[in-house]
Amino acid sequence: MRFGFDIDDTLINLREHAFNIYNQRLNQNVPIEVFHNLKRVEIHEPFGLDDEQGNEMWRSSLEEIYYTSCPPFPDAVETLQQLEKMGHEIYYITARPKEHGERTKKWLKENGFPVHDERFFYGMQDHEKVEIIKKLNLEYYFDDKPEVLNTLLNESIKIFLRDQSYNRHLNLPRIVNWSDLEEIINEKVK
Ligand SMILES: [Mg+2]
Repeated sequence: MRFGFDIDDTLINLREHAFNIYNQRLNQNVPIEVFHNLKRVEIHEPFGLDDEQGNEMWRSSLEEIYYTSCPPFPDAVETLQQLEKMGHEIYYITARPKEHGERTKKWLKENGFPVHDERFFYGMQDHEKVEIIKKLNLEYYFDDKPEVLNTLLNESIKIFLRDQSYNRHLNLPRIVNWSDLEEIINEKVK
């Protein structure tokens, strides 16, 4: 089968990693519980930044956010390696900007994710992901952002939200732990 995955906040814990970086860079100590209760994707508000300052903070921290020690979610690497071993095709579809595509691919490989160069797509806007996903004829697609999954509701693809504090209002199939993936697939096959 063909599986598609978003990367940031679906397979890796990018926003929490960025939240820690913000605390350090801004010399603050905003508790991690605040992060876990955020109702929007953006993380800057608890640091007292408005949206414009938040955008600038994100932009100026991006190198560190993307390429240091952002942890994959528990069992993400192992689960994808297992899928690969079982003969499934794994596709990555990330809206990271074009100039970060190749380095991101390299980072994923270095961190143990199974990546085939021709199954890695980047540089599109969130709402443009749907076109690539349709073309690839994926059977499953996983993403954290409601705006992305909402564009796929009418497609025959099986979509899943990676559970996050800002997507709990959506009544869509969701995955909380990557170790649950095998069970999800088996249930659908039955
Ligand atoms: Mg994402």
